[in-house]
Amino acid sequence: MANDSYDFLIVGAGVIGVAVARELRRKHGAGVLVLEKESTAGEHASGRNSGVLHAGVYYKAGTLKAKLCVEGNRRLRAYCREKAIPLNDHGKVIVARIAAELPALRELHARAQANGVRVSLLDEQALREVEPCAKTLDQALYVRDTAVVNPQRVMEAMVADALREGVRFRFGCAWQGPAGEDAGQTSEGPVRYRHLVNCGGLYADRIAHAYGVGLQYRILPFRGQFYRLRPTSKLQVRGNIYPVPDLCNPFLGVHFTRRPEGEVTIGPSALPLLGREQYRGMTGATIKDSLTMLAYLMRLFGRNRDHFRSIAWTEMRKLTRTGFFREAEALGVGFEKADLLPGKEPGIRAQLIDTSTAELLSDFVIEAGPRSTHVLNAVSPAFTCSLPFAEHVVGMIQPD
Ligand SMILES: Cc1cc2nc3c(=O)[nH]c(=O)nc-3n(C[C@H](O)[C@H](O)[C@H](O)COP(=O)(O)OP(=O)(O)OC[C@H]3O[C@@H](n4cnc5c(N)ncnc54)[C@H](O)[C@@H]3O)c2cc1C
Repeated sequence: MANDSYDFLIVGAGVIGVAVARELRRKHGAGVLVLEKESTAGEHASGRNSGVLHAGVYYKAGTLKAKLCVEGNRRLRAYCREKAIPLNDHGKVIVARIAAELPALRELHARAQANGVRVSLLDEQALREVEPCAKTLDQALYVRDTAVVNPQRVMEAMVADALREGVRFRFGCAWQGPAGEDAGQTSEGPVRYRHLVNCGGLYADRIAHAYGVGLQYRILPFRGQFYRLRPTSKLQVRGNIYPVPDLCNPFLGVHFTRRPEGEVTIGPSALPLLGREQYRGMTGATIKDSLTMLAYLMRLFGRNRDHFRSIAWTEMRKLTRTGFFREAEALGVGFEKADLLPGKEPGIRAQLIDTSTAELLSDFVIEAGPRSTHVLNAVSPAFTCSLPFAEHVVGMIQPD
């Protein structure tokens, strides 16, 4: 039984929890303990994402995402180089499938320029020089600084650094609730702290609610399924081929990504789920959670803010192999349905909704509570942003 005391207790060893722990140790030189209910770090979104280091194209200037993404991309690429973690550094192209997407493509160009990202508009011939098999209508956007990494390699390196720097980890140990003003109950007994940082991903809302924080928010899980491109496909991919997204939708759409190991992934989808860790079928979905999620989904469907109905229908179509293929086929030449092979493990996005407005929140949300700070909406590209994101979180903390 642990009955011990730390300056800072972090819940969750995803990329955000580990980066925040390192930053707290660096800034305050204090005793930092990270609690993780799983047996290793990064078992959820942080180890199961697409591994794309986004450059900062999509986000409106002035948002937290825009501020942290450009800096996060630069620093995480440098970190990977320093640690000899392989990167696919071929950049990405965003292509238009239909003429109606061209205004959004130009809007992305303007947003990227406002954020200081290196981008250029390419005509079809110039596109062929960058991504010979990508297909576009009239123009495509080329983003030089997008890179791809194996996210598990990054997690391993960050945990190793944190341990070396004196951060303590307790794996297989779940935070269960507050135990008085300055302690938390865990599956291994109480732990006292001066300040708690909630980096609980899919459970961040529940943890925050226990402190009376963010009561209007709820996490909705969305599963991202991947396929793998048959290595002998006529479609060749050097970096990343993305569609022009629906700018009202928080997800970027199915895309082709060449991982540093050489494999090309296709995905992810974004299927709303009833269970927080529902990686397959109905496993990971409790009846109580399912009923609550169902009620929220029906409300989102009814209110239809940000075209929720159309997002849901589009995602349902991707449940079948044919639907998934249709979504991706217009991005490149030579792609056939037989090229879709079973892909890597799915990942689940912890997407925050504001229950008072039935709105999916797109920017990062971090809120302060009694002796605690709560990271409530660490949605994509929080992996890319993790290093400056952690500095931002730690900058908000006033240790009692
Ligand atoms: C399919 C998919 C693709 C994505 N693609 C990209 C991308 O290409 N680029 C990018 O930048 N971002 C991407 N993202 C987003 C990125 O992965 C997340 O923003 C980031 O990983 C969030 O990190 P986190 O630490 O907040 O959450 P997590 O990684 O989920 O970590 C939270 C941790 O808290 C633990 N935990 C929860 N409750 C408790 C408890 N009670 N006690 C102890 N531990 C607890 C969990 O076990 C978990 O390990 C993607 C996400 C998904 C799902």
